[in-house]
Amino acid sequence: MRSGQKIVHYRLRCLECGREYQDTNFRLRCDADHAPAFLRAVYSSPQLTIDKNAPGIFRYSRWLPVGQPLKKSGTTITYRSEELARKLGLNNLYINFNGYWPEKGASMITCSFKELEAFPVLSRLQKSGKSNIVVASAGNTGRAFAYACSLNSIPLHLVVPESGLPMIWLADKPDSCVNLIALRGGDYLDAINLAARIAQKPGFTSEGGALNVARRDGMGTAILNGVLSIGSIPDHYFQAIGSGTGAIAAWEANIRLAEDGRFGDRGKLMNLHLAQNVPFTPIIKSWRSGNRDFVTLNEDESKKELEKVYAKVLSNRNPPYSIKGGVYDAMSDAGGDMYEVTNKEALMAQEDFERLEGIDISPAAAVAVGALYQAVKQNKIAHKDVILLNITGGGYKRLRKDYSLHQIQPLIEVDGLRTDLNSVMKVLV
Ligand SMILES: *Cc1c(COP(=O)(O)O)cnc(C)c1O
Ligand SMILES: [Zn+2]
Repeated sequence: MRSGQKIVHYRLRCLECGREYQDTNFRLRCDADHAPAFLRAVYSSPQLTIDKNAPGIFRYSRWLPVGQPLKKSGTTITYRSEELARKLGLNNLYINFNGYWPEKGASMITCSFKELEAFPVLSRLQKSGKSNIVVASAGNTGRAFAYACSLNSIPLHLVVPESGLPMIWLADKPDSCVNLIALRGGDYLDAINLAARIAQKPGFTSEGGALNVARRDGMGTAILNGVLSIGSIPDHYFQAIGSGTGAIAAWEANIRLAEDGRFGDRGKLMNLHLAQNVPFTPIIKSWRSGNRDFVTLNEDESKKELEKVYAKVLSNRNPPYSIKGGVYDAMSDAGGDMYEVTNKEALMAQEDFERLEGIDISPAAAVAVGALYQAVKQNKIAHKDVILLNITGGGYKRLRKDYSLHQIQPLIEVDGLRTDLNSVMKVLV
């Protein structure tokens, strides 16, 4: 480490043993020998101040583990619903919109909240002096990273299963710094495994998934925007989950905002209302079983279930559920409920939302709306409660009115189940 290194605006704290670290070397884990645990960024500024002159998401830099701002990041917008709120009889329904909707000032051109992860992760990467980041994605994360890297000329190695390839498009012409590796046969978990093997090679860096504090705190900016717009911490938060990282991020942002003191009681936590798409609902099954263990999944069964779900991005077979600071801990601390939403319910909610609010939303976001319908019907929330509904993706149809999209072409296609790593590396280096 260089001597006289300047003091940064945050430290990393292990949620299991409390050990603290300066953020050198793109650290993802604690060094101590204990059960898996997240690190959490502890910011030196206990109150949130916004840097109005910074671009996009970097206006929240005080509460992001980042260095220099990058160009062209979109941000979340939050507004108060009228039509959907009326239909559901809710007095204080707020929409946290992550997508493209220029009429409302929403500029997330990759149309999902994964864009909130990509920029902070890449800024943190540059700050750490690392490069050649390797990312596995089922679709939306890959598109977000491809966009951020392309516009900022940052080399990216992106591993995507065949089913996700149609989602790897950009609104502008892609830069050649994006290397797309396509898996023939093989799903998201296979992509994660190949990405991990590539990242072990010298000179390559694993992006880290939920272990990466930049990813979680980047997603947390959706909640910062929501709470700043509403003026207080809501009573309830609705989101569709695949890995649950967004929900963990919401809980962590909530904890910081409660400690800030200006947005409600210091201990105020919003209940987490999390939804999955039937029949693939492993997080709900785990939660209902009442303990920290994640259910054991049968691979063939999972793959069959995943073929049936409408919201394909909600497909994580290995989510950060049991890990200290993960979904189990977030739910245990914040309270709330989980909802099994069918394809039919999601489709209906999607149509309703577009008709009532005036913007198209992604299948995953429709699953969250379906959960809100269930919660109202089952009297789980009161009419006067303050509700934040995370529309995690939207505006794809709207975007296509303004742009013709560029599909990114794979640099190499490999067998997803039996990948010859050497042949991949030959193409990448
Ligand atoms: C990834 C994704 C989700 C699920 O997010 P989690 O990481 O599971 O919290 C929901 N909606 C959209 C549009 C997504 O891309
Ligand atoms: Zn530790």
